[in-house]
Amino acid sequence: MSDAYCGGCACGAIRYEISAEPIFMNDCQCRDCQRASGTGHGSYLTFPSRAQVKLTGEPTHWTLVGESGNEKAHAFCPTCGSPVYLALSAHPDLFTVHAASLDDPAGTRRRW
Ligand SMILES: [Zn+2]
Ligand SMILES: [Zn+2]
Repeated sequence: MSDAYCGGCACGAIRYEISAEPIFMNDCQCRDCQRASGTGHGSYLTFPSRAQVKLTGEPTHWTLVGESGNEKAHAFCPTCGSPVYLALSAHPDLFTVHAASLDDPAGTRRRW
C-alpha cells in the first residue's frame, strides 16, 4: 500500500486524499482545458475509483460537453476559484484531479 495522494484548492477549503495509484496522467491541450486552466494546457491525474477518494469541503460544479460528446463536471472551490477535480459522465467511477492541486506535484512526477 503506497501513501495517499493529497491535495486540494489554494485556500484549503476543499481537500482530497486518494489511497490509490493513478491509472493515467495526461496533459490535455484542447481549448476547453486552455480556457479552464487559463494556460496552454491542463495536467491531470486520473484515479480508478471514487470509493478510494476522501473528499472534504463543498466544491461548486460546472458542466461542459467535451469534444468526445461526454459530459465533464468541473469541480472548483467557490471561495478561491481553484479547479480541483473533474467527473466524467461516461466514467462515473473515475476521479480526475488537476495535477497542480496536489500538495506535492513534483513527488508525483518522480514516482510516476
Ligand atoms: Zn479554495
Ligand atoms: Zn482538454
